Amino acid sequence: MTARTPKGTAAQTGAAPRGRGPSAQAAHRAERDGSDGAFIVPGLPARGRVPPVRRLVMVLGDQLDAGSAAFDDFDPARDAVFMAEVPEESRYVPGSRARSTLFLSAMRHFAQALAERGWRVHYQRLDDRAATDTLAEALQAAVDALVPGECVMVEPGEWRLREAFSRHRAAPRLLPDRHFLCSHEQFAAHAKGRRQLRMEFFYREMRERHRVLMDGETPAGGQWNYDAENRKAFGAAGPGAVPPRAGVAPDAITREVIALLASRLPDQPGHAERFDWPVTRAQAQAALAAFIEQRLPAFGDFQDAMWTGEPWLFHAHIAAALNLKLLDPREVVAAAEAAWRAGRAPLPAVEGFIRQVLGWREYVRGIYWRAMPGYLEANALDARQPLPAFYWSGEVPMACLREAIGQSLAFGYAHHIQRLMVTGLYALLLGAVPREVHAWYLSVYVDAVEWVEAPNTLGMALYADGGVMASKPYAATGRYIERMSNYCRGCRFDPAKSTGEDACPFTTLYWDFLVRHRATLSRNVRMALQLKNLARLDAAALSAIAARAHAIRANDGVPPGAGTTATSTGADADTAATPGIAPATDAPGASPRPRGRARATSAGTRPTNRRLFE
Ligand SMILES: Cc1cc2nc3c(=O)[nH]c(=O)nc-3n(C[C@H](O)[C@H](O)[C@H](O)COP(=O)(O)OP(=O)(O)OC[C@H]3O[C@@H](n4cnc5c(N)ncnc54)[C@H](O)[C@@H]3O)c2cc1C
Ligand code: SF4
Repeated sequence: MTARTPKGTAAQTGAAPRGRGPSAQAAHRAERDGSDGAFIVPGLPARGRVPPVRRLVMVLGDQLDAGSAAFDDFDPARDAVFMAEVPEESRYVPGSRARSTLFLSAMRHFAQALAERGWRVHYQRLDDRAATDTLAEALQAAVDALVPGECVMVEPGEWRLREAFSRHRAAPRLLPDRHFLCSHEQFAAHAKGRRQLRMEFFYREMRERHRVLMDGETPAGGQWNYDAENRKAFGAAGPGAVPPRAGVAPDAITREVIALLASRLPDQPGHAERFDWPVTRAQAQAALAAFIEQRLPAFGDFQDAMWTGEPWLFHAHIAAALNLKLLDPREVVAAAEAAWRAGRAPLPAVEGFIRQVLGWREYVRGIYWRAMPGYLEANALDARQPLPAFYWSGEVPMACLREAIGQSLAFGYAHHIQRLMVTGLYALLLGAVPREVHAWYLSVYVDAVEWVEAPNTLGMALYADGGVMASKPYAATGRYIERMSNYCRGCRFDPAKSTGEDACPFTTLYWDFLVRHRATLSRNVRMALQLKNLARLDAAALSAIAARAHAIRANDGVPPGAGTTATSTGADADTAATPGIAPATDAPGASPRPRGRARATSAGTRPTNRRLFE
């Protein structure tokens, strides 16, 4: 596969600045103040103060790609770029502090880099006196001030914004998004005539079309999928030395954004104290290189494993950079494949990673655009329970949820299995309202954008789409979490128990879920084994389970009398001190579970997770 090289900005690529416009336009260039690189790209001038522009290029916060179609034929002498920060984008779901910081800081860095190239950039800041509330209003204000001959933009990645801009008075010309490896037309062709879509078939087509991990006409190594060799749990000793995270210290622009958000949107959930995400293309490329070098070799083995106090493990942490378009998926896939061909990473790890980027990421986008706009209202299991308040605080006695939510609020990050099989699984089993769960995922993660978040949340985690994304609900007891992590060791509950004071709420709610949805699930042959096991429970057990499940629901998702925090999580001192991650304290009356049993179940690094994901 040949990586498409984004043109990049001068600051990103080191290219010499291209032409400059006439002097009136030069007055609207950014100028560094010579000290800390503070952000000073100008806002909009009064109408008539600058010559009208030939073409106005509107760039959204997740379109930070200087090689996008919007910049084809960009003429710095006659064209201008417009970007806007608007309150509405942090408000339509309660965007977390980390997520808003990432978007605004990355936008400002991108605008500044374009301006340093000599391009005319107008930028509406959140705190500009005349700042508009919405992106559509911002574009109108720009059109009024700059009177462009035409407006262009890359098609928005979100249905809500595509609607807003396709009906906009300024009639911006929407250009195809070349970032993705599968166009809308190609996905439609794949889906045509299929009763049921499955990622695996889509992924194979993508491998063939883009010549990724192919040896002639056959898949590299003779297999399409190496999952059988992946997805192990850590042994009792845990992950061992995890490579240190290649974080980026906030610069002046990021610090300014953090301060701005603290004053303008003080009620945002989550934190930015530990913010260290890449906000430029160069930083994103460095993060990718660090992953390929240090973590990719172990990615396959441990992509599903979880460990207390270890938020980063062997994952790439590049979803946000990809989704903002700081990284191109072609270069990500090419770098992983090159590592295997050079003998620096094993094939199962590389294939497993490429499947996520070339397969899942493109597939969920295809599903999103086929299923919208109705998708956000999907609620196939008629789930009605409000999302528990602890999702917004992390204060909860269940150790696994405390870890996953705590790190999500602190860093804006949790890996796939934490999202799917901890926070997502609990919401599924509890019967939480899909729309509320969707809002939570869209809020807290730095990589959250609707086209990828919604199919993962509503489809994969909650089965709210009735089986479009997943062939069966990902329902499991606490035993699954026990197998794939050490969370249960530090928890007051017992994953093997479904009733009684120390029964694991996941396990209780799992059986209750099967009972509540027995009629629907019995139509799915992939649920046959689980329903067969359900049939073994006697009436007394079922009634005790129902009573405890009811009590959990009535107590906002927490077993009554369990308090908020539980036993030591075993989190390292660093993480325990992190805002949003509950400190490792013993709650009154908590009885730490014996460590021996967890050791017995997680000894060795064997594949433990295959059946769920086949
Ligand atoms: C309920 C739920 C919500 C999610 N919401 C988002 C979201 O808002 N934004 C987002 O980018 N991903 C989302 N995912 C997918 C996945 O969890 C994240 O992409 C991943 O955890 C990001 O971390 P990473 O970069 O370290 O990924 P890695 O584990 O290192 O994976 C590498 C890359 O593969 C891609 N990828 C992996 N899994 C998926 C997937 N299921 N769908 C699409 N792309 C995938 C991502 O671009 C990711 O960066 C969600 C998953 C679930 C179960
Ligand atoms: S016992 Fe249950 S609630 Fe506690 S960590 Fe394990 S799965 Fe989570």
